[in-house]
Amino acid sequence: MSKNKLKAGTICVQGGWKPQQGEPRVLPIYQSTTYKYDTIEDMGDLFDLKTSGYFYTRLQNPTNDNVAAKITELEGGVAGMLTSSGQAANFFVIFNLCEAGDHFVSASTIYGGTYNLFAVTLKRMGIDVTFVDIEASEEELASAIQPNTKLIFGETLANPALSVLDIEKFAKVAHAHGIPLIVDNTFATPINCRPFEWGADIVTHSTTKYMDGHASALGGCIVDSGNFDWEKSADKFPGLTTPDASYHGVVYTEAFGKAAFITKAIMQLMRDLGAVQSPQNAFLTNIGLETLELRMKKHVSSAQKVAEYLENNDKVAWVSYPGLKSNKYYDLAQKYLPNGTCGVISFGLKGGKETCKQFINELNFIAIVTHVADARSCVLHPASTTHRQMTDEQLLEAGVPPELIRVSVGIEDVEDIIADIEQALEKV
Ligand SMILES: *Cc1c(COP(=O)(O)O)cnc(C)c1O
Repeated sequence: MSKNKLKAGTICVQGGWKPQQGEPRVLPIYQSTTYKYDTIEDMGDLFDLKTSGYFYTRLQNPTNDNVAAKITELEGGVAGMLTSSGQAANFFVIFNLCEAGDHFVSASTIYGGTYNLFAVTLKRMGIDVTFVDIEASEEELASAIQPNTKLIFGETLANPALSVLDIEKFAKVAHAHGIPLIVDNTFATPINCRPFEWGADIVTHSTTKYMDGHASALGGCIVDSGNFDWEKSADKFPGLTTPDASYHGVVYTEAFGKAAFITKAIMQLMRDLGAVQSPQNAFLTNIGLETLELRMKKHVSSAQKVAEYLENNDKVAWVSYPGLKSNKYYDLAQKYLPNGTCGVISFGLKGGKETCKQFINELNFIAIVTHVADARSCVLHPASTTHRQMTDEQLLEAGVPPELIRVSVGIEDVEDIIADIEQALEKV
C-alpha cells in the first residue's frame, strides 16, 4: 500500500519521521545550529544547490523538516516548510509572490493579525491589498483583480467570524486570471478539510492552534500542492521563472519543478528574514499532531452540543457556528467540511457588549486567554483584545460585531463545559 493511501488518523501518528534500522523510534530534536562535512567541495555543492543536505538550521533542520513532511502528507501536498509562527507563514506566502508595486486580493473575514499584516504592514512595503466580501460573486471577485494582482487569499473557516470560504469559486476565479489561491486552513485542519482537493494551490497554518493543540508551541507551516503552473503565468512570477541573482542565477521552476515555491521561500525568505521555528517547538507540535484526528472529533462533537445549547437559551441573541442548520454557512460547511468544522463558536447575548463582558468574567474553568483551539476550553472578547486596534467599521467588515464572544470548546467533558456556561448565564 502506498503511503498516500493511508488515512489521516494513521498519517497523524506515522507520517513524517521514518526511522531506519536502529534509529530512534521517536522523532529526535536535532538541537544543532550546524552540520559537519568532510571537504570544502562537499559543502560548496550544497551552497550551489547542486546537492541537498543540511548546513545551517536557519535554512533547514531535520526535526522541522520531518514535521513539515507530516503536515504535507496530511494536506496531500508535494512540499512544505515550517515557520516560527502562523504570522510568518502568511507573510512568507505573500512576500514569496509579491514585491513593491504588486497587489493581491483577500477575503475580508480573516484573522485580526493577518488583517493588520495585509492592511497596514504590507502596504508600508508597497504591496497593496483589496479586501472582498467572502460571499462575493464570481463577477465581484474578478473585478477586484488588476494586471498586477498576484494571488487571492482566504481562510477556510475564518477566525473568529467562522464564515466558510467557497474554495472552488475562489479557485476558479484565481485560475481564470493565471494566479494561485492561497488558503489559511488553521481552523479546519486537514482532518476536516483538504483545500487542495477543491482547487487551492497553497495552504498555510498557524500550527499554534489545533496542530500543537496544547497551547505549548508557537509555529506556522506552508504547504504547496505543486499544482499551480508558474511557467504558464511566467510574466507574473519572474521571481520563480527567471534567474535569482541572490542565488547564483538559479531559476526555481527549472531547478526544483513542483517544489519551486517552497524552495524559493526557504532559500530567499528564510535565509534573509530568519523566521525559523525552533526544533524544540517542532518536536512539541509533532506530539500534538499524533492526536490531531482524535482531538478534532472531540472538539467538533462537543462544540456542536454547546452551540445547540446556546441557540436554545433565552439570554442568547445569536450563535454563529457553521454546524447549526440556522447558520448561513451551513450548506457550504456540509460541502467542504462534512465531518465537522472546528471547536470554536461565536455568539452574542441579548444584553449587548457590557452583558457579554460580565458573562465572560463569571466563567470558572473556561478561562480568558488570547488563544483558541487547544485542549482547554477558553473564551475571548475580540473587540476589547485581539481586535482592539480595529475601528467599528473594520470590525464589522471582518465579521466581528462589538458584542461577539468567542468560545473555544476544549476536550474536557462537555457536560462540565455546558454547566460552566450555564452558571455564568444565570448571573447576567
Ligand atoms: C492564530 C492565527 C494566525 C496567526 O498565527 P500565530 O501562530 O499566532 O502567528 C493566522 N491565521 C489564523 C487563522 C489564526 O487563527
